[in-house]
Amino acid sequence: MTKKHILVIEDESSIADNITYALTSEGFTCSWVGIGSEGLAVIKAQHVDLVILDVGLPDINGFEVCKIIRKSSDVPIIFLTARGEEIDRVVGLEIGGDDYVVKPFSPRELVARVKVILKRLSINSIKNKVITKTFTVDEEKRRIKYCDVGLELTTYEYGILKLLLTYPERVFTREQLMNEVWSTPEESFDRAVDTHIKTIRAKLRAIAPQDNSLTTHRGVGYSIKLA
Ligand code: CA
Repeated sequence: MTKKHILVIEDESSIADNITYALTSEGFTCSWVGIGSEGLAVIKAQHVDLVILDVGLPDINGFEVCKIIRKSSDVPIIFLTARGEEIDRVVGLEIGGDDYVVKPFSPRELVARVKVILKRLSINSIKNKVITKTFTVDEEKRRIKYCDVGLELTTYEYGILKLLLTYPERVFTREQLMNEVWSTPEESFDRAVDTHIKTIRAKLRAIAPQDNSLTTHRGVGYSIKLA
């Protein structure tokens, strides 16, 4: 298997050093650049499997870099965001980021996220039936099984759960869930989404009382665990 190439766009060299060291010792190939424009040049010139992108860059803001990347590429992007900037996390996900890590973070945690995202991509390439250890999705019949038990889901519940399962561990904001699942978005989307998440959780727990598959990201949104 060829080594996965991770591009790190981060202007603080001490942080970048820690990240590249951790990734390299886990068998990844790493490139590091300190400004956004150089990052874009690398993406243009080389194959990149995943991008770690700092939001606060000296030349182009990380969000702008992401928007430019998304015009031509679906390469997974993990944002490095500042502590306390919840809005940055939401914005990052809204404009096409796959995940975010809050500074200060442990390089180990970041490496774990990288692995999850790359694993998710390999799962997604197995077409149609999304199967984690506990979930089975039958898109034709619009049915989802949990621990081998068929779930009785409403249209919206099915839509939300299917979307989360298609991208395990990816955090979706409430607005993203609503835009993807609802045919006509409601005004109070926060509450509408929260209500459906609550009912889905209850249905899973009716089958497995200890269920913890649905993760709430405070002030940001929801994801499902890759079990
Ligand atoms: Ca920075």
